[in-house]
Amino acid sequence: MNAPQKYVYLFGSSRTEGSADMKNLLGGKGANLAEMCRLGITVPSGFTISTEACTAFTELGRETVLGMIRDEVLQGVKFVETEMGRRFGNASDPLLLSVRSGARASMPGMMDTILNLGLNDEAVLGLAAKSGNARFAWDSYRRFIQMYGDVVMGLKPLSKEEHDPFEIIIDTLKEKRQVKLDTDLDAQDLKELVQRFKALIRARTGHDFPTDPWEQLWGSIWAVFESWNNDRAKVYRELNDIPQSWGTAVNVQAMVFGNLGEHSATGVAFSRDAGTGEDLFNGEFLVNAQGEDVVAGIRTPQQVSLIGSRRWAELALVSEADRASKYPSLEELMPHIYAQLLHFETTLENHFKDMQDIEFTIQEGKLWMLQTRNGKRTGSAMVRIAMEMLQQGMIDEKTAIMRVAPDRLNELLHPVFDHQALADATPIARGLPASPGAATGQIVFFADDAESWAKQGKAVILVRQETSPEDLRGMSVAKGILTARGGMTSHAAVVARGMGKCCVSGAGAVHVDMKARSMRIGDTDYFEGDWISLNGTTGEVYLGKIATRDAELSGDFGKLMALADIHKHMEVRTNADTPDEARMARSFGATGIGLCRTEHMFFEGERITAVREMILADNEAQRRKALTKLLPIQRDDFEGLFAAMDGLPVTIRLLDPPLHEFLPHDDANQRLMAADMHVSLGKIKMRVEELHEFNPMMGHRGCRLGISYPEITEMQARAVFEAGLNMRAKGIDVKAEIMVPLVGTLREFNLQAEVIRRTAAAVFAERGETLPYLLGTMIETPRASLVADSIATQAEFFSFGTNDLTQMTLGFSRDDAGKFLPDYLKQGVYEHDPFRSIDQIGVGALVQMAVQKGRSVRPDIEVGVCGEHGGDPASVAFFHRAGLNYVSCSPYRVPIARLAAAQAAISG
Ligand code: ADP
Ligand code: MG
Ligand code: MG
Repeated sequence: MNAPQKYVYLFGSSRTEGSADMKNLLGGKGANLAEMCRLGITVPSGFTISTEACTAFTELGRETVLGMIRDEVLQGVKFVETEMGRRFGNASDPLLLSVRSGARASMPGMMDTILNLGLNDEAVLGLAAKSGNARFAWDSYRRFIQMYGDVVMGLKPLSKEEHDPFEIIIDTLKEKRQVKLDTDLDAQDLKELVQRFKALIRARTGHDFPTDPWEQLWGSIWAVFESWNNDRAKVYRELNDIPQSWGTAVNVQAMVFGNLGEHSATGVAFSRDAGTGEDLFNGEFLVNAQGEDVVAGIRTPQQVSLIGSRRWAELALVSEADRASKYPSLEELMPHIYAQLLHFETTLENHFKDMQDIEFTIQEGKLWMLQTRNGKRTGSAMVRIAMEMLQQGMIDEKTAIMRVAPDRLNELLHPVFDHQALADATPIARGLPASPGAATGQIVFFADDAESWAKQGKAVILVRQETSPEDLRGMSVAKGILTARGGMTSHAAVVARGMGKCCVSGAGAVHVDMKARSMRIGDTDYFEGDWISLNGTTGEVYLGKIATRDAELSGDFGKLMALADIHKHMEVRTNADTPDEARMARSFGATGIGLCRTEHMFFEGERITAVREMILADNEAQRRKALTKLLPIQRDDFEGLFAAMDGLPVTIRLLDPPLHEFLPHDDANQRLMAADMHVSLGKIKMRVEELHEFNPMMGHRGCRLGISYPEITEMQARAVFEAGLNMRAKGIDVKAEIMVPLVGTLREFNLQAEVIRRTAAAVFAERGETLPYLLGTMIETPRASLVADSIATQAEFFSFGTNDLTQMTLGFSRDDAGKFLPDYLKQGVYEHDPFRSIDQIGVGALVQMAVQKGRSVRPDIEVGVCGEHGGDPASVAFFHRAGLNYVSCSPYRVPIARLAAAQAAISG
């Protein structure tokens, strides 16, 4: 007989069934709670209901799942009762529980937690009597009703301008009592809150607050399962690529109390600095507090370590005397607890070999650990922590490389404020440096406004009292985030760091008026739409826009890149059209130009006139005349590129876009052009008409242009060879590669190759010297992939133009896909945007086939990719497996591609 399936796993001091490697089943939180028990760390006992139960809940519904897990849950509660020496539901000395969600991947604040479960009107009296602390008992009760009312009974704000309905009641009472802090309310006040909360619940839902602890427990378990499918959890999963199918586990755990008075506290801490990566234990705590108080920014949290506390005081402009008396560190306040916390933190970091983000509670002088996980961090912290852990011998080179998410390097590459502009700027407020970076934008006060403004292309700064998980989408599109409340571990700070977004939190001088859509600082009001700037590295807030400049890449970043270069097999080139871009890419580590789009040079200044003359030409002779004007300009362009890339290959693509792109299509500009060039408006209109195409993407472009007008190819080839010889004469090591676009047949390639080779011979004869060069083609039509073996008999290299290859293989026009692609992604037709991350099984198969066919006739043929996909980590991994020699991407993505290539090589 099969044993019945197990859904519940115990953890505690006498017995622990789970472990860290059971994350899929127990979620990250549950698996690590079990692991902490195994390490001998003090954790309140409890049990974890597996993610399989959640999946079953979604598929089969509540009743069926109840039948499946009821007995195990009853056993679990018995286990906790035995461990804690209290009975669940006992009115005189009740065991209270927390019910906590926890998915496989950490989704901080995304799903729901309920604390102090098991209280009712009788148990609260028992708790008060037993603890001798009526205030504590009523505080716990009102918190329970608040959380249960919100999570299980659905009492949310009625509109976006409204605050949490329970908080409104609290604020009203505080005003009446003329006190500022929650902790100033006494037992009687809290009792009154309980009454009012219950009345509110009755009024809004028509139901009484449930008094039966078991009803409370089951209600909470179902609510956690349901929370897996709430909007904010869905958004988070979308943003972080977490499958909807995973489900969440539920942790049911004995409560410990940080709200028992002056010797109790609750806090969060990081084993290293999540913003900078510095190897410094840091964190925040609040005395006489519970649960999310620290992150919710309700009171100003204190710092865990003394050094952290001093740094905080400096930033918050608090004097040392004030700091020591009003905001002492845990290290000063409870030195023994601090020492124990430090010990746990070190144990955990050494055990998991990564930066830990921990949650703890102190109950009357005893430390309890409530959570540990690998901490979220900024891109620069990622790099620094990986490199320092490598240096400290905690991890090896490959692990260090794998620790940094390539996309996060973005944050290190992006601009910071220009020093001079910053010195001239007017600071208007100061908060905490919650997440580094520089941001300039227009103020908005609501997350949905941030979204709609960003959609209109505006740069916005989201300003909030404090943020909550509902604000996620708005936060993700904002340039930066400013909050009036909340510390370094507030929701805004943690999420912003996770996103690598600039954030200043807890700027106390900022008073937000959501209704008026304004904020007041001192006696100045700032309104929606006003420009401000944030420095997330210092916490400074400035008036207006501030200019930015490029970041500097050295130190740990440089070391990581050097390591990546050792491990990767592919080269990383860049797509660059100008010497400036080429130089920047080179400083980012590009080892060549994989794509220079010559037409990009055609638009600048005087050039466009010469280009238009060529297009208006009625015959070859006129066209040649116009091309003669273009020749020196192109030669100059190429000379600049060769000089910038001295010693590295430069791949130059022949003219690619359809000619109509160079002509104005509106009447006004056509008139200007006519006047400029002394031709009739009618002639221009006629030419535009002639060049009109129904589907330009598949029209007269690419090598088709060069085949109709070989003199264009001739001019471009001549410019390349002359520039190459000129530069070589100046001591530059020139490595030219000429690339024919949009080839589908060998004959097409040969027609263009003949022109180029003939031109080379002519230039070399004139100069009496030769220049070695490679002549190859783009593979960007499906047909080219299919006949790659025949093309490779003549072409010396292939470069996959995956943008065109994708649109032609899928039959999606890149410019029109925006209309249906979002629906396609939502409905899972494609898993990712195929223009961002290569469609591996479709388009990818054509790539693999072409590589194989190409190499079958020319074993040493050089193959690379120059589409957008060259900078996408998942695509880079695919290209590695396909055996490409290089990827080429935009300059800013070069380091990302280098790291992705190394990770691909390590993962094999
Ligand atoms: P999240 O996943 O959002 O971090 P948690 O399940 O960690 O939510 O719960 C939030 C907070 O509630 C914890 O950080 C802790 O302060 C408090 N908490 C949870 N369980 C307990 C418990 N058993 N005893 C005391 N506090 C708890
Ligand atoms: Mg937590
Ligand atoms: Mg193309």
